[in-house]
Amino acid sequence: MNATDKKPHVVILGGNFAGLGSAQKIRQYAGDAVQITVLDRKDYLLFVPNIPADVFENRNPAMHQRMELRDVLAHDQINFIQAEVNAIDVDSEVVHITPNERPGAAAVTLSYDYLVVALGNRLAFEDIEGFAEFGDSVSDLYLGEQLRQKLHFGGYKGGPIAIGSARFHQGDGAKGLEPYPGGSIPDALAACEGPPVEVMMAAAHYLAETKQGDPSKIT
Ligand SMILES: Cc1cc2nc3c(=O)[nH]c(=O)nc-3n(C[C@H](O)[C@H](O)[C@H](O)COP(=O)(O)OP(=O)(O)OC[C@H]3O[C@@H](n4cnc5c(N)ncnc54)[C@H](O)[C@@H]3O)c2cc1C
Repeated sequence: MNATDKKPHVVILGGNFAGLGSAQKIRQYAGDAVQITVLDRKDYLLFVPNIPADVFENRNPAMHQRMELRDVLAHDQINFIQAEVNAIDVDSEVVHITPNERPGAAAVTLSYDYLVVALGNRLAFEDIEGFAEFGDSVSDLYLGEQLRQKLHFGGYKGGPIAIGSARFHQGDGAKGLEPYPGGSIPDALAACEGPPVEVMMAAAHYLAETKQGDPSKIT
């Protein structure tokens, strides 16, 4: 693709599971009828679900849970821009971005014909009482590595462990989305159940292995 290409421009904000999956599916269904650009502040896919396994098995997740995005996207003729998304102007059909490889880069405006927003969520750690003082998380590389250090290098002092996942809204009830199964995204108010169960079992195993207690410490 080049700057003079007049094909409709699909811009996808976010390059993790939703962004990468959207880009590949759009290429599959639309063929070369569109040009596609993916934007993300980082140029790798982060395999979030595997962070707990690395943390409890004493591996730094940053060394294992990343996949380079650029080659994968280039394989499907999808452009990639590493940039911070600052704002979306729906009326003008542009996105305001700042390339972030080096500090001080000038902000840029990128126009689109179709826009996919796949920027993930914002976790509200500040809403969890006591989190700042006692909390840990396996939701990203930084926090996962902090917990690994605590568990395997003497930071855990043997106190009770509470494991949880806050409730959240997923889906917005949107209709008319065929061929999406059922034609709508159901609105579900639910907590993410898989990771807490996984972390609970890993924590019980950790306590037994390190002779620091049994599962009765875990709530
Ligand atoms: C411990 C754990 C285990 C999990 N296990 C599973 C599982 O087994 N199965 C499952 O289906 N799900 C699981 N999940 C949930 C899953 O990880 C998320 O649903 C998934 O990561 C969401 O993907 P996403 O692409 O929508 O958002 P994200 O993965 O959050 O990606 C958003 C992307 O947008 C980028 N971005 C955000 N804001 C900006 C900005 N302003 N400018 C530029 N880029 C930006 C980010 O860098 C990121 O790459 C688990 C989650 C956790 C924490």
